[in-house]
Amino acid sequence: MSESETSDRDVRRTICEYGRQLLADDLTTGTGGNLSARVGEDRIAISPSGVPYEDIEPTDVPVVRTDGTVLEGDIEPSSELPMHLAVYEARPDVGGVVHTHSPYATTFASLGEPIPASHYLLAFAGSEVPVTRYETHATPEIGEAAVDALGEEVSATLLRNHGVLTADASLEDAYTVAQMVEFCARIHHQARAVGDPEVLPDEEMDRLAEKLDAYGQ
Ligand SMILES: [Zn+2]
Repeated sequence: MSESETSDRDVRRTICEYGRQLLADDLTTGTGGNLSARVGEDRIAISPSGVPYEDIEPTDVPVVRTDGTVLEGDIEPSSELPMHLAVYEARPDVGGVVHTHSPYATTFASLGEPIPASHYLLAFAGSEVPVTRYETHATPEIGEAAVDALGEEVSATLLRNHGVLTADASLEDAYTVAQMVEFCARIHHQARAVGDPEVLPDEEMDRLAEKLDAYGQ
């Protein structure tokens, strides 16, 4: 087996593992959400369309060229493939993308409100989690909206009236950001239910981002 076949196989297995983890962590239900990872410079692996996460096997996981051509995999790629591809194209630093409808973060997506940093762990995403303009799911336009909201540095955005998208150096990192965004959304929601949450200033968020970078190295 060639080196590229070995790395393809490992990445496809990782997609299966994190898909099951989405269910275990209550970040999605059924076949909702999707996730992808770069395999090489010009290819990504992405979760297949319409298969329950428990049933996805590595050979089901499509490997797709960045122009959208399917190279491997027994099942069609996720219908949100264009959104994933748009993020990889715009952000060469991104190695993994996770999209969920996790309930607390999606609550803010439906309100059209960014999630502010009322908890320090939001620093995993940026100084706040922005919201995109509304676009229909599974279109190239929702990918453009996500890219616009992410800009050059932020690693998470809410997709208006839809859900969450996270993008980071690896699938593992993007997954961690998805967990942190959901946790911070829940805390912010709860804090607002009983009072007026305090939001950390931008200088502190910059400091936290530096600490997280140092910790990651
Ligand atoms: Zn979705």
